[in-house]
Amino acid sequence: MKLVLIGAPGSGKGTLAQGLIKALNIPSISTGDLLRNSIANGTELGKTAKKYMDEGKLVPTELVLDLLKERLAEPDTKNGYILDGFPRSMEQAELLDSMVDIDLCLYLDVDKDVIVNRIAGRRTCKKCGAIYNTNTYSSPVCECGGELYLRDDDNEVTVAKRFDTFTNTTSPLVDFYRNKGILKTVKGQDRAEDTLNKALEIMK
Ligand code: ADP
Ligand code: ZN
Repeated sequence: MKLVLIGAPGSGKGTLAQGLIKALNIPSISTGDLLRNSIANGTELGKTAKKYMDEGKLVPTELVLDLLKERLAEPDTKNGYILDGFPRSMEQAELLDSMVDIDLCLYLDVDKDVIVNRIAGRRTCKKCGAIYNTNTYSSPVCECGGELYLRDDDNEVTVAKRFDTFTNTTSPLVDFYRNKGILKTVKGQDRAEDTLNKALEIMK
């Protein structure tokens, strides 16, 4: 099963992916996490990417593609995978289309006011990338022992720009996958478990 997740920043893609990993027993590949790892490792690619990320813009596709291809070459992707954050533009969707056959695209549909609320409380694990929210989890440490932090791009100004990037550049992908006949929409307003259950129900 090769799955693509599409949703605005803060819509809960990463959280849904965490649930799907366990339920479907396939890995999730988050291009945002791959980029943040490159930044943490101090690579040239990471340094270049950070400038775009801090402005809420898309990182140039060739940079993301290198990381993605490297990750897709790892053996745990043999039985499929979840793509969280790729593709994010028509250019990327066409590229992906020429590389692999995607079985399903889940579009996580969430109202903007819910999103703004969520991002303010979002905390991310420095070590494993797991996502928490201060409303439901008060410890400063992840289950894996890593430190939880507020992402550099999770501030009000950058979030607003990321939202615009989603509306202008990423949202056309919903029609792209609908036209291919592989789009399913999941409402993601409620608790994470409810969203996961809805997604699993749709996939049956
Ligand atoms: P969110 O979905 O909440 O915005 P991500 O972790 O998926 O968070 O992405 C964070 C940032 O990483 C994006 O704003 C963008 O700058 C960059 N990024 C992630 N995936 C891609 C991609 N496929 N193409 C270009 N830039 C990307
Ligand atoms: Zn962790």
